[in-house]
Amino acid sequence: MPLDEAVLSEIADAAHLIKESRYVIALTGAGVSVESGIRPFRGPGGLWTERGEPPMDGYRRFEADPKGYWEERLSPARRSMFGDGFEAAKPNPGHYAFTELEAMGVLKSLVTQNIDNLHNEAGSTRVLEIHGNRHKLRCIRCGKRFPASVFDLSTLPPRCPECGGVVKDDIVMFGEPIPRDVLEACQIEAGRSDCIIVAGTSAVVYPAASLPLIVKEKGGVIIEVNPHESELSGICDVSIRASSGEALPALVEEIKRLA
Ligand SMILES: [Zn+2]
Repeated sequence: MPLDEAVLSEIADAAHLIKESRYVIALTGAGVSVESGIRPFRGPGGLWTERGEPPMDGYRRFEADPKGYWEERLSPARRSMFGDGFEAAKPNPGHYAFTELEAMGVLKSLVTQNIDNLHNEAGSTRVLEIHGNRHKLRCIRCGKRFPASVFDLSTLPPRCPECGGVVKDDIVMFGEPIPRDVLEACQIEAGRSDCIIVAGTSAVVYPAASLPLIVKEKGGVIIEVNPHESELSGICDVSIRASSGEALPALVEEIKRLA
């Protein structure tokens, strides 16, 4: 679908703001992966909207019974919590646009709420995954991350080869603190930034929600890419009302044209 006049005008405005900025970062959410066939968790058509939210005390239950957590995790029933579509999902033009912005030296880092690994697959290298990565496991004592293949899972729960701590999925559960290393890196990046592109997320959940505010409070600008108005729209300098897969490649072209 060709982009309409209003969207093209928003893209032009956004490109100018980006060109005038010295430290551009991005924040992405479920909307960026929808075009890769991954359903959002919340909102219309959301997986959890349909099936109900996972237990809010997930992390407390894990801490109480790590072995039980692992037995459940390895059972076929677990898949339903995250839905289907992950295995077949490939990065879409929105992911590749961010990769290109990084390669152009425009985008300094990318914070994502997505666990699907698609930004990495697309070739982005400065990715901060606030909610973890579905391909990794993490030690809850020392925080070190490992590819899942490191563990043979014959004894549950698996233990960290570095410190002996209990290992769980890197994916952050309800009630689990955001890993300190990622949280601090996000805050440092937001503190440096004078322009944040917020794509495919209404950014209402902490800590993602705080990042645009940190940028804005220092006089920076917020560019939103979201087909729908969001809670963040009121404080955005530009809102591009289109999907990220359509809008971001056009934005990259416009930035190249200005350069
Ligand atoms: Zn450890």
